[in-house]
Amino acid sequence: MKTAVVTGGCGFLGSYLCAKLLDSSFRVLCIDNLITGDLQNIERISKNKNFEFINHDVSKYLEVEGEVDWILHFASPASPADYLKYPIQTLKVGALGTHNTLGLAKAKKSKYMLASTSEVYGDPLVNPQAEDYWGNVNPIGPRGVYDEAKRFAESLTMAYNRTHKIDTRIVRIFNTYGPRMRHNDGRAVPNFIVQALKGEDLTIYGDGTQTRSFCYVDDLIEGITMLMAADYNQPVNIGNPRELKILDLANIILDITKSQSKIKLLELPQDDPKVRRPDISKAKSMLNWQAKVSAEEGLKRTVEYFKQKIF
Ligand code: UDP
Repeated sequence: MKTAVVTGGCGFLGSYLCAKLLDSSFRVLCIDNLITGDLQNIERISKNKNFEFINHDVSKYLEVEGEVDWILHFASPASPADYLKYPIQTLKVGALGTHNTLGLAKAKKSKYMLASTSEVYGDPLVNPQAEDYWGNVNPIGPRGVYDEAKRFAESLTMAYNRTHKIDTRIVRIFNTYGPRMRHNDGRAVPNFIVQALKGEDLTIYGDGTQTRSFCYVDDLIEGITMLMAADYNQPVNIGNPRELKILDLANIILDITKSQSKIKLLELPQDDPKVRRPDISKAKSMLNWQAKVSAEEGLKRTVEYFKQKIF
């Protein structure tokens, strides 16, 4: 039986990844310090005899007994609201956490996957964003703590690949949503769904013409497992290329929930990217992957989850 270490395994994406790896006959060691992760996310897998949870901050030295075949470094605050609240922890987990987990990969001769992000492209000057675009990031702005930590993490991952011959993967994850997002996570999808269900105004930042491309969580996890199986060390975008204005997203959610909520325009946060859309040519040609779940279908499933959760 192969062993995988998943950091951030109690987070939204990490917990889906742990479940998928258990289904694929891995033993899973889930490491999380629970600052943004939640034990509820691993409730359904915590009784599995091949699953173990370790409460640890991977920014600190990390020791794991026995053989490790894969390390998947998914620990990090990932919502703008979270990385504004935890700026130093975000920088540390992206920098020191990546160093510690790569060190573990070197010691154990494990394969390694870094969860990177579309935020490495910053406020992009080209649209869609392909992997060879270098990005447009403000290093000292409020989002810089996440963007630069992930850019450094990519750099370190490639350095370990080149210098120590670690078999690495870098997945650049675009906006992903689905059941198990926190209702107070602060991102557009959970905010709008919870506001619509409660009959509160939907809070749109700016005029709502900024765009994002939303990927349903099952599609993303499938892309990640396909990338694990591929023999490829360069970054790969995984995301849904359908680009929506934030205002359109709000209206789709109002339709699905049949809510009478109104839209309220608030100030746009600093450095908020104006456009974001993945070029997934690489994932398509190399992994034969593309997103299958439409925004309407995925949002319907997510609305059902939040209905159970908040009422
Ligand atoms: N946004 C919004 N209202 C909200 C939350 C977010 O208008 O209540 C906007 C935000 O300013 C950004 C987009 O929706 O332009 C996506 O934000 P999110 O926090 O989901 O993720 P990001 O892509 O910015 O990391």
